[in-house]
Amino acid sequence: MPNCPKCHQPVNAQVTTCPYCRTELKAYGHPGIPLHRATGEEFLCNTCTYHEDDTCTFSKRPYAKECTMYSDRSQESQQITATRYSLGWRHSLQLWCQRNQPLLLLCGLIVVSLAIAFYARK
Ligand code: SF4
Ligand SMILES: [Zn+2]
Repeated sequence: MPNCPKCHQPVNAQVTTCPYCRTELKAYGHPGIPLHRATGEEFLCNTCTYHEDDTCTFSKRPYAKECTMYSDRSQESQQITATRYSLGWRHSLQLWCQRNQPLLLLCGLIVVSLAIAFYARK
């Protein structure tokens, strides 16, 4: 459950206005449009992905204190790191399987032989 950026009380992610301090949490009163707010003195743009890559064309840039398009660049880099980690893990497994193909084949043959021997005894 997210916290209200003003009073820091936990609020339901779908509410459009904070039930404690009446701060507007969604843009245009629509629960699907988050309204990001700067919490301190710093402007949102300083930590926004679109400011960093210079793709934002909003007139309030670089002094936005509220924005519907804000994208936290620290979250973006965490997502990229997580994706890289999961790709790395899969890639490592793939490499290990390729390198140890003879061993895997031998293990497969042993399992099949044991299964045949087990069912032939019955
Ligand atoms: S999207 Fe909003 S917060 Fe991001 S750079 Fe543009 S105006 Fe600033
Ligand atoms: Zn509040």
